[in-house]
Amino acid sequence: MTGAQAANKVMIVTGGSRGIGAEIARKAAYEGYRVVVTYASGAQRAEAVVAELIESGREAISVACDVSREEDVVALFARTKDVFGRVSVLVNNGGVTGGFSKVRDVTAQTLQDTMSVNVIGAVLCSREAVRQMSTETGGPGGAIINVSSRASQYGGAGEWVHYAASKGALDTLTLGLAREVAAEGIRVNAVAPGFIDTELHAAAGDAGRAARLAASTPMGRPGTSAEVADVVLWLASERASYVTAAIVAAAGGR
Ligand code: NAP
Repeated sequence: MTGAQAANKVMIVTGGSRGIGAEIARKAAYEGYRVVVTYASGAQRAEAVVAELIESGREAISVACDVSREEDVVALFARTKDVFGRVSVLVNNGGVTGGFSKVRDVTAQTLQDTMSVNVIGAVLCSREAVRQMSTETGGPGGAIINVSSRASQYGGAGEWVHYAASKGALDTLTLGLAREVAAEGIRVNAVAPGFIDTELHAAAGDAGRAARLAASTPMGRPGTSAEVADVVLWLASERASYVTAAIVAAAGGR
């Protein structure tokens, strides 16, 4: 969306405190969106992202929201509507890996934590977004973008099948919801990043993972948060007006 097109549009980015989410929030704000940056544990970092945007004349707020908690999600969308009006674009970016574990060792707690954030959180946020966006309820339509992973296709074998499976569910959410709400003015798409240079890998206990594994991909390097954010901003924009139920890889050929 160009600055003029994005002006007065409202974007919620879950997990906007750092990494890919923070970059999506920055690019959206510079394109003219009013941006809601959510965080689960990273209050200071989310507030720093918002402060940076406000200092440069953009409109943004930070809101605490653990997307796995229904009451947090409902409150997030109510607050957004109060402050900026109906949400135009939802980016389901917030996610966790659950850490490294083969299936033979995975705990029920890890499964619950991963699915609660990556799947249930995305569905809850999508539900609230559809309620505000749908032309059937007087809304103006909108766009939902899910940040999936190429792991959903490769399977995460030996590292985190549980995480890959959660992203597989997110892909299915993308396809199903896109078709369910296509006639209500809402497009639903996903971006599937490959190995991206963020703190996600260090948080899982292997800081060098993205650079090491990306070396054997066709492009031979990890991607940046900005390269993923650009795909998200395109999917959000009118330039993607006939694109729905698409899962776009941003993975250097992987
Ligand atoms: P990151 O640096 O670890 O950031 C994760 C973000 O998710 C943080 O902002 C975090 O917020 C948020 N989050 C964690 N738990 C949450 C919860 N319960 N509710 C709401 N938000 C929560 O990771 P990233 O690399 O930027 O990843 C962003 C997305 O891209 C994730 O969905 C990830 O699966 C996906 N992805 C990443 C890669 C990669 O190589 N980096 C590849 C494929 C897909 P707090 O800091 O506030 O806790």
